[in-house]
Amino acid sequence: MPRLKKISATRRQTACMATLCVVGLSAALMLVQFSEGDEKQPVQSDKQSDADTDATENSSEEEVLKPVVKLDREWRKQLSRQQFYVTRQGGTERARTGEFWNHKTDGIYRCVCCELPLFDAKSKYKSGTGWPSFWEPINEKYVSQHEDRSFFSIRTEVRCKRCAAHLGHVFDDGPEPSGLRYCMNSAALSFQRREKSTQRREKSTKNPVSQ
Ligand SMILES: [Zn+2]
Repeated sequence: MPRLKKISATRRQTACMATLCVVGLSAALMLVQFSEGDEKQPVQSDKQSDADTDATENSSEEEVLKPVVKLDREWRKQLSRQQFYVTRQGGTERARTGEFWNHKTDGIYRCVCCELPLFDAKSKYKSGTGWPSFWEPINEKYVSQHEDRSFFSIRTEVRCKRCAAHLGHVFDDGPEPSGLRYCMNSAALSFQRREKSTQRREKSTKNPVSQ
């Protein structure tokens, strides 16, 4: 009899565990469905084109800055290890190792996570630091600033306003007219070369001093 009791107790335990597994699996499935549903909300595209730039230009600020929120596992899927480390974990690439520190092509630098246009090559300058440096963002409202007290210093961290990606820091030792140095990580940026037609259009409308 004790043996029988033991067996039925073991069966009850097995049944309980099986029920727990089913409940757990159902919860996991619901979570996946929920997060996948969420994925459809953010403004996100893997392709870059002039149309994207125009869409940003023609959309209201509220639409453009509609938050892009993803789970870490989704960012990991989309980004390289270095891009994830810099943008989602607040990392810094080593000086003179990034793709854009010495990049001189004309175009637009976008957030590597959500493609928000952040910096124009026209505001890029040679800072001698080994990181891509700009004296102003395309739109001050497209970036947010946060106090950073890491590494025994007080710095101003810069993040993408739309997806909160860590981009780099801003310092007040930049050139005129802003006097600011947006010291960015290449890994936080993607680059879109400016089309010649766009260049022509800009030349006819922009102040010749800036050319
Ligand atoms: Zn972003």
